[in-house]
Amino acid sequence: MDFKRQTEELNNIPIQTVASLLKVTLPRTGSARCPLPDHDDKRPSFEIKSSGTRWVCYGCNRSGGSIDFVKEYCGLTFIGAKRWLVDRAQVNPSSSARFRSSRKAGLTSRPQDEKSRESAPDVEVYECFLDLCPLQTNGLQYLASRAISDKTVAAFRIGQLQDTKVVLATLIKSIGFDRMERSGLLTKKSTRTNPHLVFAEGSLVFPFLENERVAYLQGRAIGPAETRGTWRNLNHRQRRIYNVDALAQNITTDRFAICEGVMDTLSALDLNYIAIGILGVNAKLTADQAKQLRGKEIDILLDWDTAGNKGAVKLQRELNRYGVISTRKSQPSARARDLNEFLMETRGLA
Ligand SMILES: [Zn+2]
Repeated sequence: MDFKRQTEELNNIPIQTVASLLKVTLPRTGSARCPLPDHDDKRPSFEIKSSGTRWVCYGCNRSGGSIDFVKEYCGLTFIGAKRWLVDRAQVNPSSSARFRSSRKAGLTSRPQDEKSRESAPDVEVYECFLDLCPLQTNGLQYLASRAISDKTVAAFRIGQLQDTKVVLATLIKSIGFDRMERSGLLTKKSTRTNPHLVFAEGSLVFPFLENERVAYLQGRAIGPAETRGTWRNLNHRQRRIYNVDALAQNITTDRFAICEGVMDTLSALDLNYIAIGILGVNAKLTADQAKQLRGKEIDILLDWDTAGNKGAVKLQRELNRYGVISTRKSQPSARARDLNEFLMETRGLA
């Protein structure tokens, strides 16, 4: 069997089956506390998608199929994880057909396919949504408590979802269900008669500006909704680079930072960096984006934890391929595990 075919076969194995091989209890689909050994998850940040064969952890920002699960759980290479699965899962045509039939038809698609098929971001819908989401006092207070300056908050057009029902009804009326659905703003379970926004009531809303227009949105629950998971992405849309416009900035006096996530990117900006944010340590820049980094002085400021350190090594190697030299910065203080914690420390807030 060729490499690609075998990868597909192995990734058809339900995550729950793989977990039980690893003596880990997980539901067939839905949320659980992250079982990965280097993530001390206090809340259920780990989700098994409705296909049963894809997982994502919103806490440690890792995701994948069965092979990636074994890889992350056992600390193996991709090839090593495949071998581990082949040894145990007895993948042959009949068993993989069984695995396949356990997936719900129509719900599975590989990220690669999604990427090539994905329509351009519906900028108008996102702008419309953001206009209905002015930042509230508690949102401003939250950002201030994380040491993000008012200037940065305003420049990055951070909003907040308040009165979800009214916002949703307004959008459906002006934009229509289908277009809302395509934009990724509705949950997977949404129906025409029962639509739901992907972001929770009270969430901060972070627009991803590209050429100063909103090309993507990420929500962060604050307050009571936070217990149901912190960060939310658009449904079925490829995640994008935060503050990607910075790549085209040609200021050579400032250092350029690659950060993990939105909050750290905003923190880097408040620490006088030019910065972009990747969502998850395994996120990749496109070749064109990587090439735009040539000649810049780049600091890699991913989280100072196992996933961040591993991600930094991978990212450096990847950037190297495009002739981009970068520095993995060491932990900026004894206590700061990420850049926002460091910013809070320097502002006397931690
Ligand atoms: Zn995790």
